[in-house]
Amino acid sequence: MYDFSRCKLCASHSAHPTYHLKNTTIYVCAECGFHFIDHLDIIPSGSQDDDTTTLDRKSLDYIDGRIDAQSRQLRGNLLLVSRHRSPAGAHCLDIGAGAGLFPSLLAEAGAVVHGIEPQNLFREYALKRFGILLHRETIDDRYWQQGFAGFFDIATLWDVIEHVNFPAETLRGVSAVTKPGGWLFLDTPRRDSLFYRICEWSYRLSGGSNRLLFESLYSPQPFRHKQLFTRSQLVNLVERIGFTVVSLNSSVFRPNDRMVLVCRKSQDAR
Ligand SMILES: [Zn+2]
Repeated sequence: MYDFSRCKLCASHSAHPTYHLKNTTIYVCAECGFHFIDHLDIIPSGSQDDDTTTLDRKSLDYIDGRIDAQSRQLRGNLLLVSRHRSPAGAHCLDIGAGAGLFPSLLAEAGAVVHGIEPQNLFREYALKRFGILLHRETIDDRYWQQGFAGFFDIATLWDVIEHVNFPAETLRGVSAVTKPGGWLFLDTPRRDSLFYRICEWSYRLSGGSNRLLFESLYSPQPFRHKQLFTRSQLVNLVERIGFTVVSLNSSVFRPNDRMVLVCRKSQDAR
């Protein structure tokens, strides 16, 4: 059982339960200001896989709809990647690959593609629809850390870092499998947004009874948002683990409260 007073970003025991939502609590770190909820997903480890959800007609239709909705954004993401490093011939790792659309776009562009997706339903879909075999093992697994150390030219995490149990450990794991000089691309909603301030004001002004705005951002449901980064928190984290930020912006494909990071691992990093 994780002790949520331990900050998931700076590891100091300085986090306090601050915003009490209906089914979860947002902890705020007094040391580094990180916000995260007191919930972790259960991820099967090793050979154990309890997730036997399979693809039926209904889920197939549902994922088809999601794929359509994501298509424009992910094609934009591919353009962004291509502006920095041609995917042709590159070894790419897409983490949190979902239904496999982004890996399939990379493969079309000539990349050698690997992908990670913890949910069985999406892995089945990716195989059926795109012929893409996604891995269940998360990035901290020995499969990646021992078999692919310093291997990838390009790593991508689209809308992922706010969902994982331990984002600092996830990015450290990504850094370890990225080549010196390799690229990291990620996007995530930013917490230093006007909307987030309104969430906080509305909670405080109502004496904690208006939680609805916060509940649109965080949820204890499996694979939903567990933490949100400010711009400087995310930049400091990626720099601490050996990347240099090449660009950080809100892309034309995104509303303003998201940030898109392009990072490069230093040439002399190991
Ligand atoms: Zn902290």
